[in-house]
Amino acid sequence: PTPVVALVGRPNVGKSTLFNRLTRSRDALVADLPGLTRDRHYGQARWGGRDFIVVDTGGFEPSAEQGIVREMAKQTRQAVAEADVVLFVVDVRAGLTAQDHDIAAYLRRLGKPVVLVANKAEGMRESGQWAEFYELGLGDVVPVSAAHGQGLRSLVEAALARL
Ligand code: GDP
Ligand code: MG
Repeated sequence: PTPVVALVGRPNVGKSTLFNRLTRSRDALVADLPGLTRDRHYGQARWGGRDFIVVDTGGFEPSAEQGIVREMAKQTRQAVAEADVVLFVVDVRAGLTAQDHDIAAYLRRLGKPVVLVANKAEGMRESGQWAEFYELGLGDVVPVSAAHGQGLRSLVEAALARL
């Protein structure tokens, strides 16, 4: 079966921007993806001749009764459960936050392969500013700029190497 890569992280770190880059906005037909649920956003990706499915999270109604934090946690859990590799996206411009620590703790407990993606790193990929994210204890940090399309090939290589 085609490998599934899930994008998780707190709101506004650039998950959807990265999703669009990786999939080049090719939506996956959910009907063609047996075993995956319908309430998340799936896209089809092909890089270096390898096909994979990308799952975005966070596209829920902010007005949801149960509240944004709980809904986000639920979406994240479900997407991670379906994934073969998790791309945990953080924002280098915002720096490390308490919410990043919470998500990291959850992912470490789960033991799934995780690649830590330091997004919004345009113009600072050489600066090492993203190195603070090593503190999350999830191994390698891959600096990218989803908005500018930088670092994506290295990211895909790191993700597929974890399969
Ligand atoms: P999501 O909530 O995690 O899905 O984040 P979005 O993809 O909606 O992006 C949130 C904001 O961050 C938007 O204003 C994007 O334009 C911006 N953004 C996304 N990627 C980058 C990036 O690589 N660099 C910068 N500077 N901004 C970005
Ligand atoms: Mg989004």
